[in-house]
Formats: sequence, structure tokens, C-alpha cells
Amino acid sequence: MKDKRYDLHCHTTCSDGSMTPQELIEHAKEIGLSGLAITDHDTIEAYREAIPLSQQLGLELISGAEFSTHYKETSVHLLAYAFSLNNPEIIRFCKRHQERRRKRNLAIIEKLKKAKMSISEEELIINERVAPISVGRPHIAEALVKRGYVSSIQEAFNRYIGEGCPYFEPGERFSVEETIEVIHKAKGKAVIAHPHLINESRVVEALTQFDFDGIEVYYARFGESQCQKWLQLAKKKNWLVTGGSDFHGIAKQNILLGSSWAPEETFDILREHFLKNNDL
Ligand code: AMP
Ligand code: ZN
Ligand code: FE
Ligand code: FE
Repeated sequence: MKDKRYDLHCHTTCSDGSMTPQELIEHAKEIGLSGLAITDHDTIEAYREAIPLSQQLGLELISGAEFSTHYKETSVHLLAYAFSLNNPEIIRFCKRHQERRRKRNLAIIEKLKKAKMSISEEELIINERVAPISVGRPHIAEALVKRGYVSSIQEAFNRYIGEGCPYFEPGERFSVEETIEVIHKAKGKAVIAHPHLINESRVVEALTQFDFDGIEVYYARFGESQCQKWLQLAKKKNWLVTGGSDFHGIAKQNILLGSSWAPEETFDILREHFLKNNDL
């Protein structure tokens, strides 16, 4: 029998992905995935549509979200899994992140305006097929392409709004500790997202001291050999080994859904927690 695949990292139109929750669930089923966690940036809105549809299609789903945090000056993404979707703390936390995004988007728009690249806040939403809940830099990049200021989303990040670029804004910072605390209050598991992308070893070292439950060992384009280091760390810390593609659809064309996945034993643990924490 073919190995079961559980992709625990993907985005929908609720944040910066290009598939609606319905399209994503149908696509996951079509390509033969056994289970999925949707990890939109700072929103759990996709689950409204995804839960009934996944039940109907027989695809195992667990709750998920990706939160942006900072450790000192470094951006660190955290994944939350298997939490209660009705938990007021996590719902409030998502709202606070929406506010952070709104202020940050306005600050970036202001900087761009001064540089004679005018885009409006409305464009970030109306350019989209479905209005996103979490609006972010990919939406700004898209607006810059539509206005003809750049020829691609990549160019917008490379020249203007990527980290270290002139019109980048970090926005309000959320700490790793606070984010882990909220995830735990919602009875979820807190996981370090794509550690492969953290360049500074002192940051990785610092992260190992926090109360994480897991680490995303298998990620996107990274091969088996590049994952060994993270697998060793997971073993040492007795953390869950997770994995996922970080699928965004056409927003990141070269990353396919199901191209990275979590081991079945991890999914079984998370699925059990998810069912315990949610009345479906
Ligand atoms: P934000 O959450 O608003 O800071 O936007 C972060 C998202 O932008 C990431 O999850 C990616 O989807 C996308 N992104 C970040 N850096 C780049 C880049 N250099 N090129 C293209 N997309 C990027
Ligand atoms: Zn994204
Ligand atoms: Fe991320
Ligand atoms: Fe992601």
C-alpha cells in the first residue's frame, strides 16, 4: 500500500494562498492525501468551510494556524495544531494579528507612496478573487504588479518589501513566549515552523529553550539530508516531528501540495488531540 501522506502546512485565500478552503480540500482529496492541516497566517476562518467538506469527502483534518513572532530582531514563524477552534483566547489572538497587519500594511503603503508607488488599501482586497481575512505582503506585491511598478511578485519582495528592503515594515512584534502560551491555553501543540529558514544558529539555540511541542522537520524543497539535523534535535528534545509543503497555490508556483508531509505517528497523535478538543 502507498504510504499515507499528511501535509500539515498549507494556505488558502483566507490568508495568502490562491485556493479557497473548498478548492484546497478537494485538491488534497484528488491527489490522494490522507490528512491535512490548514495553516493560514493568523486566521482559522478556513475551518468553517473545510470541516464539513472534509467530513463529506473522508479527508482527515486537524486544526492549524501559522503565527508570526519575533525572537529579538529575527522573524520566527510558529505553527499551532490540534487546538480547540472555539477557544476565545486563540480567536482573540487572531483578531490582534489582523489589527497588527492592518497597521503594518498602511505603514508600507505610506512608504511606497512617498516613493511614488501609489496603491490603496482597498486594492489589496478587491484584487483578490475572495477577500482575504489576513492581508499581507503577498497582497501588496500583487497590487504592485497590477499597477505595473514591478513585473513579478518576486521582484516586489526582492526590491521593495522583503526583509532588509527599503519599504519593509516589521509591524508590532509578538513574542515567542506569548504565542506558545496562547496555543497551549487553546489546548494546542506549538511547533517551530521551517527551522531551515532561520539563518542564525544563536536563534535556533535560543528557541530550543522554549516550551515547544514539535518542530517542522520535513519542509518544502529541503531534502532528507537537510532534515537530519532537525530530526536529531526533535529526538533530543522529545518533540513531535511534523512536516508540510507550505503550499500557497499560484502564489508560490513551484511548491506542490503534498510535496512534504508528516509521519503517520505524528498525525495520529495530533488527530487524537484535535478530536478531544473539538466537538465535531
Ligand atoms: P507577511 O505575513 O505579510 O509578512 O508575508 C509573509 C508571506 O510572504 C510568506 O508567508 C510568503 O508567502 C511570502 N513571502 C515572504 N518572503 C517572500 C519572498 N522573498 N518572495 C515571495 N514571497 C515571499
Ligand atoms: Zn504565506
Ligand atoms: Fe512561514
Ligand atoms: Fe506558511
